[in-house]
Amino acid sequence: MREIDTLGVTRALILSTPEQRVSAERVADLLGARSAGIFAKAVMHVPIETAREARDAARELGADCAVAIGGGSTTGLGKAVALESGLPTVAIPTTYAGSEMTSIYGITEAGFKRAGRDPRVLPRTVIYDPELSRSLPIDLSMTSGLNAIAHAAEGLYAHDGNPITALMAEEGIRAMSSALRTLREDPYDLDARGDALYGAWLCGSVLGAVSMGLHHKLCHTLGGTFDLPHAEVHAVMLPHALAYNANLAPEAMLRIGRALGADDATIGLQELATTLGTPTSLRQIGMLESSLERAAIVAVSEPYPNPRPLEYGPVRALLQRAFEGDVPAMEP
Ligand code: NAD
Repeated sequence: MREIDTLGVTRALILSTPEQRVSAERVADLLGARSAGIFAKAVMHVPIETAREARDAARELGADCAVAIGGGSTTGLGKAVALESGLPTVAIPTTYAGSEMTSIYGITEAGFKRAGRDPRVLPRTVIYDPELSRSLPIDLSMTSGLNAIAHAAEGLYAHDGNPITALMAEEGIRAMSSALRTLREDPYDLDARGDALYGAWLCGSVLGAVSMGLHHKLCHTLGGTFDLPHAEVHAVMLPHALAYNANLAPEAMLRIGRALGADDATIGLQELATTLGTPTSLRQIGMLESSLERAAIVAVSEPYPNPRPLEYGPVRALLQRAFEGDVPAMEP
């Protein structure tokens, strides 16, 4: 309630997924008269229809701000509402996706997810509470944590990175990987849940500050065009995408390896995924081998910054390795 008052607003529309409605109700109880109502219809990829429905609900209920409690899908809905209506949002993240620290939004219209950056969508306040992430199912905790590590890892070789984002990225990978190892053993360890949120904050801040490269492009393509699960795609792809860039990003590889306590960044990441029990092949998460060619074409179709130039042949080979779950390798 204090944060709502600090923002100078009075009535919050509370956003959540249908699965997290109980959490939204708890927020509504805590807010009392400052709750305008609950909109528990957030879903993956923020369909424009849902965003408009939420915006209209906010208007009808007289809300002057939104509180988004949940993972990246709910934070994303809050961002879409902010973009459509200008309402300030408070984010209460319950996964490690890190969206709460970025001004990046994504909205799906007619089957196409458009993404952009706009300062209006950045949540005004973020509340991290480890208790709320305790209920995050263990497998989702692991893949969500690797999703966060992916932001920091690619941030380390971003063309617009700087010494501060490099420090934050290395510390984010260290904190997150260590917390995930502990949580695999004990999902209810509150200190480890807190460390994971600290890592998510660092990794999300890096994502918000610099440009992403091949890994995020591949994940966007595989998630958006082939409807594969967001966090699991990140978990599978990261070692392979980093291997593609490794020779042209030695400083980044050094930092990633150091943060993981591994001699080699890409092997270290794949070993981490194995320890955490996350999927290690695209085959496992429902990708069709016949779609690999199209995925490679989409991934190299538009130019974007990446340490190594994007070429169809090596990207196609990388995708094959990821499909099979092979050891990551520098594609010729
Ligand atoms: P999600 O928000 O889709 O959540 C997955 C499921 O877990 C949902 O059913 C949710 O209700 C449930 N859940 C979340 N927290 C829970 C908890 N503590 N206990 C029990 N259940 C819980 O998953 P995500 O991986 O956090 O978000 C993925 C989406 O976020 C993608 O669409 C991705 O593109 C987007 N994203 C955006 C940014 C950005 O900067 N814009 C950054 C990262 C991710």
